[in-house]
Amino acid sequence: MKDESQAREMLKSLAEDVAEAASYLRELGVEGLEGLSAETAAPPQHAREETPRASAQVPNALRRNATAERPAPPHAPAKTLPPPPPQPSQAARPKTDEAHDESPNILYQSAEMPRRPVRKPSPDPPAPRETLFGDITPQDELSLGRPGETFEDIRADVGECVRCPLHQGRKTIVHTEGQTTARLMFVGEAPGADEDASGRPFVGRAGQLLNKIIEAIGLKRDDVLIGNVNRCRPPNNRQPTTEEAHTCKPFLLREINIARPDVIVVLGNTAMKNLLDTKEGITRLRGQFQDYRGIKVMPTFHPAYLLRDPSKKREVWDDMKKVRDYLNQLKT
Ligand code: URA
Repeated sequence: MKDESQAREMLKSLAEDVAEAASYLRELGVEGLEGLSAETAAPPQHAREETPRASAQVPNALRRNATAERPAPPHAPAKTLPPPPPQPSQAARPKTDEAHDESPNILYQSAEMPRRPVRKPSPDPPAPRETLFGDITPQDELSLGRPGETFEDIRADVGECVRCPLHQGRKTIVHTEGQTTARLMFVGEAPGADEDASGRPFVGRAGQLLNKIIEAIGLKRDDVLIGNVNRCRPPNNRQPTTEEAHTCKPFLLREINIARPDVIVVLGNTAMKNLLDTKEGITRLRGQFQDYRGIKVMPTFHPAYLLRDPSKKREVWDDMKKVRDYLNQLKT
């Protein structure tokens, strides 16, 4: 009797895992998984091991943010998009929007950034050092940043980065942009084709949807900070490898350390796993506030996923209402 109930528990937990993996695959754009739920799923174990990996030959359906490669529709609502970045010879900030020039805290990616001379990065991370507080691993040290540093310092540090293989295929390094004193930050996975071409995060179709999500909670894109775990576009929009993510992530973490927003919304499974260092999946954690060094983190679905499955917008709206209410509650 006891064995039977244990076996039933194990089966239930396995089915839940499979349902979560299926949901993750769906997020990556895999078709034909309809009906795979915790109740119905009982695929072989290897199904989970076949989660798409880094590969230049990733089929379309398995590509990360597959839709991000499509060009923006001709009638894209210009009002929700910030002005296009200036050409290399122009000023760092969009000239058409006076408000941008008035705030020293708004960052835009441009070929003129960083303002300081670009240092060639050292390809080798520093060796672990012994400090007053014990051993600090290079990863920790890199992630914590230097006292008093600015976003410009971090851009300068990134430099013409060659730390990971992603530099080979990129056109532009896509830095975090927006309000450096923002109360709300969004973190995605890595740039897609539109971002790589423009040098700005979330400007393709997924980015336009993100703008709408931001506006839905009464904010504007300019009010928030938007960044990615990886700053270079992976070939064929594949998912960045763990090593690529670990190489780039410290720059984002240093920015978070400077900005200290009240809430970070992590968009999608990969961004969430990288920021929170968790093995849990997005379907399990979305909608529940998590913690990153004392900052509330709300995991939610990636807008590229919503483009493929608009029915998931309801969940994202629920998550964003929690974020809005939390921010409003802090104000009072
Ligand atoms: N997807 C991301 O994760 N980041 C972007 O900047 C664009 C699409």
